[in-house]
Amino acid sequence: MRAVVLHAPFDLRVEEREAPQLGPGQVRVGLRAGGICGSDLHYYLHGGFGAVRLREPMILGHEVAGIVQEAAPGVTSVKPGDIVAVNPSLACGVCRFCVKGLHNHCLDMRFYGSAMRMPHVQGAFRDSVVCEAVQAVPMPEGTSVNEAAFAEPLAVCLHAVVRAGPLLGQRVLVTGAGPIGILTVAAARAAGAAEIVATDILDGPLAMARRMGADRTVNVASEPEAMAGYEAEKGWFDVMFEAAGSAVPLLVGLKVVRPLGTIVQIGQGAQADLPMSAIVTKEINLIGTFRFDTEFETAVSYIARRQIDVRPLLTEIVPLQEAKRAFDLAADKSRSVKVQLALGEA
Ligand SMILES: [Zn+2]
Ligand SMILES: [Zn+2]
Repeated sequence: MRAVVLHAPFDLRVEEREAPQLGPGQVRVGLRAGGICGSDLHYYLHGGFGAVRLREPMILGHEVAGIVQEAAPGVTSVKPGDIVAVNPSLACGVCRFCVKGLHNHCLDMRFYGSAMRMPHVQGAFRDSVVCEAVQAVPMPEGTSVNEAAFAEPLAVCLHAVVRAGPLLGQRVLVTGAGPIGILTVAAARAAGAAEIVATDILDGPLAMARRMGADRTVNVASEPEAMAGYEAEKGWFDVMFEAAGSAVPLLVGLKVVRPLGTIVQIGQGAQADLPMSAIVTKEINLIGTFRFDTEFETAVSYIARRQIDVRPLLTEIVPLQEAKRAFDLAADKSRSVKVQLALGEA
């Protein structure tokens, strides 16, 4: 089995690994598609983010889909030949957060391709994976594995929307038009937002944001004054999603979000120096959002029915053997939105 292993920033290697044995309650999935995520890029470019650092070689990847090859006796949820999106998160189910239903805060979380714990949880950019049956979420026959591999990033965005509260009839701002920002635009549209404005510093991603549901886009690099109009009368937007992971849009957001409005911070990795008075006097709800829980199944359903059509986002499918080229392409936002690796035997 081939695997994409990161040894140090920019030191990405395709290596042979032993395929793991199937245990009780588990399934073997022949992986076919793996989307490169912003967090994979953080490891590749910077060796991690925040306090999370790469401390040993790790297989990257967590946005994967494929075909069930083998199911342990007694597994009834899927069978060989089924197309599945693989949920990369496996919560323990018994810790103090799991028993409250807060699985994304599990104290013993195993999330593919994450250096949060030691030893690191190995990722899923490999030809096959053995996972718990509950992690293999079936897609209708005929769904493309490449669309199925969007379930994880879409789940992140759906969770962000859930954190924001009802969006029906709301004016929404999405800052940062990477895959997460763009899918958040689509998720906000699906949730009934009345008006969606998206910002970024590149025109290509903004064109994609319009295609996926934004009413207006603003290039804040070429039109730095364009957001000022939204500051009038204490701010225009009801809800803002910050998906750039940078402090600058958050500072703008405090000016353009109305009193008692909500700012959902999705992006991470930056430090911000915030004017507390703005948060206090406008009574802003500044809230975080982290990964997802049951939204994974919701994302699978949205993709399967094409209620959110993710196909325009897929820039290129790159052979696993060319992983390094794929990562360099994914890191260049002027040339790509979502880059996927073709996994499994050709
Ligand atoms: Zn991801
Ligand atoms: Zn737990």
